[in-house]
Amino acid sequence: MGKVYLTGAGPGDIDLLTVKALRVVRNADVIIYDRLANADILKEAKSGCEFIYVGKEDGLHILPQDEINEVIYQNALKHETVVRLKGGDPFVFGRGGEEAKYLKERGISYEIIPGVTSAIAVPAYAGIPVTHRGISVSFKVVTGHEARDKKQLQVDWELMKADETIVFLMGLHNLPKITKNLIEIGKPKETPCAVISRGTTSDQRSVIGTLENINEKVKNAKVQRPALIVVGKVVDLKQDLEWFKVNERL
Ligand code: SAH
Repeated sequence: MGKVYLTGAGPGDIDLLTVKALRVVRNADVIIYDRLANADILKEAKSGCEFIYVGKEDGLHILPQDEINEVIYQNALKHETVVRLKGGDPFVFGRGGEEAKYLKERGISYEIIPGVTSAIAVPAYAGIPVTHRGISVSFKVVTGHEARDKKQLQVDWELMKADETIVFLMGLHNLPKITKNLIEIGKPKETPCAVISRGTTSDQRSVIGTLENINEKVKNAKVQRPALIVVGKVVDLKQDLEWFKVNERL
């Protein structure tokens, strides 16, 4: 029986892969990867390594999660080193916990290799620090993909009242609802807001606005996925702190 490495691939820029992740990728017999994991990482694998794509888009899975769990398990029975490569960090809306639990219940050993999460890195590449002295003392990372199934947890909008930074993942399709809800709970309409798409890659684009006008701007900009939403005063720092030049690499 093999070992499974539940591995964070980072947010897009291949150089944001951790040294540990790179080491297991180079040693892998099979790599089971998502759409959000930069496919260039696969070029680092040894020859003969098998690749299995189990892509998913904004919470919509090409393969249902229980089938993904089973694919990982079956590969662990066949191979020594199984790398499950997931976009960003495996435990930040990555369902890595469910995969680990499935393996644990079947006696398969695993390691978690945390990754650089898009929730922090993508704002950073757009010149937006999620906290900043005197401006924001905390931040939340929230799903923008509201559970349709009432049995699942729903976002508690009352908790969004605090004057802090909120990062919504998987929320682009729900942007009108998110901004409406935030205004309804009393956030000022002028609250700065950024939508950043394909962050940390050469396709990175940002749309900057307020809770009131961001929807219109996003519609006109034809924003691509993946994209995340940052709400809060830290967005204003972008003007001063912007640094990342698309198409320029070390
Ligand atoms: N585990 C991942 C998040 C998975 S949820 C992580 O830690 O980053 C998927 C959501 O992440 C997308 O819907 C989008 O909101 C966000 N996302 C991931 N990569 C992104 C990128 N390069 N640019 C913008 N948003 C990204």
